Amino acid sequence: MTVLLPGATLGVMGGGQLGRMFVHAAQAMGYFTAVLDPDASSPAGLVSHHHVQADYLDEIALATLCGHSDAITTEFENVPAAALAQLAQHRFVAPGPAAVAIAQDRAQEKAHFTRCGVPCAPNASITTEAELDAVPDALLPGILKTARLGYDGKGQVRVKTRAELRAAWDGLKRAPCVLEKMLPLAFECSVVVARGADGSMVNLPVQRNLHRDGILAVTEVFEGNVAPAQAQQAIAATRAIAEGLGYVGVLCVEFFGLADGSLVVNEMAPRPHNSGHWSLDGSDVSQFELQVRTLAGLPLVQPRQHSASFMLNLLGDLWFTRGATETAPNWAAVLALPGAHLHLYGKTSARPGRKMGHLTVTGASVEAARATASQAAALLGLPAF
Ligand code: ATP
Ligand code: MG
Repeated sequence: MTVLLPGATLGVMGGGQLGRMFVHAAQAMGYFTAVLDPDASSPAGLVSHHHVQADYLDEIALATLCGHSDAITTEFENVPAAALAQLAQHRFVAPGPAAVAIAQDRAQEKAHFTRCGVPCAPNASITTEAELDAVPDALLPGILKTARLGYDGKGQVRVKTRAELRAAWDGLKRAPCVLEKMLPLAFECSVVVARGADGSMVNLPVQRNLHRDGILAVTEVFEGNVAPAQAQQAIAATRAIAEGLGYVGVLCVEFFGLADGSLVVNEMAPRPHNSGHWSLDGSDVSQFELQVRTLAGLPLVQPRQHSASFMLNLLGDLWFTRGATETAPNWAAVLALPGAHLHLYGKTSARPGRKMGHLTVTGASVEAARATASQAAALLGLPAF
């Protein structure tokens, strides 16, 4: 593969916050950037050298993105696979359309995990009335998830009985779904890996995640956040999953830790992930720099975590803690805390549940970082963690 040195232009499909942080990392290293996103004020479009403002399947726009870019990546997994395939005819695209297509579909994703020897939660695919009837009782209570297009807990219904399952499937307009057994979670964690076109691979340390209402709320990263045996297992599984895909780019895999000490895989994201945002402040190489390096064919070096890190997600709800009118939180108070790093995504309006930014707190010790992160949470009106 040819190496694209700084001065080249790196393109990205999608203009959300992940694209914005990719653009920041690319520009810091001297690259030019191009973003394709239909929204005139998309977080990444606002800070990129080029913003092609059009639909993801607009053929002229895709050709324009190719014209600007020497190589192209993606920042959200629901970019139509057909669009990536069109781009891949003309430019180096990483991750490739085939890997993205698998990650877009829960059923295919689970089949891939199984091929790689990594266990998932017990589950069944539901695409027909007959499959609905054939679901074993052992999968209840469970979570019915649409096979495609779900995120932040959207497209998921918790069901206890067969009658609830049927009603939930009707409610999801009988779209292809996967029913997963509800597991007793002891904890959740994730691993970010980056794999180059030459097969070299590096990873960030295991990230311990707390979700609230199906949305990531807190990520904690420090030595010992997860028992060493489970941490090693999660890293080995993530590497096997990336290897099995012949993956090029940044990949995040999410896991459930169960009470009996076992670990099962939940899902993967073919891109940097919210749980890896701490790496901008707590690691000498961030997940976005890794994305730049894999796309440009630059060497991958093992990132070194230099600080215990706690990441708090800042959802739009925080803008409405003082009533129905949108009011920004008191950033000055939070920024007075040592080790607090504020990241806001430049979104023009807040909505409950919308990811507006995140705050990473780093510290010289786990205790110091945790204490400051708890103070920050209290100042912002976030629940204790
Ligand atoms: P995102 O893509 O934003 O990570 P998503 O909408 O794809 O989220 P999942 O990761 O499937 O959703 O699930 C969201 C959360 O719901 C999980 O992190 C976990 O807390 C809970 N959850 C999902 N599946 C199960 C399960 N089988 N058993 C217990 N809890 C679950
Ligand atoms: Mg998830």
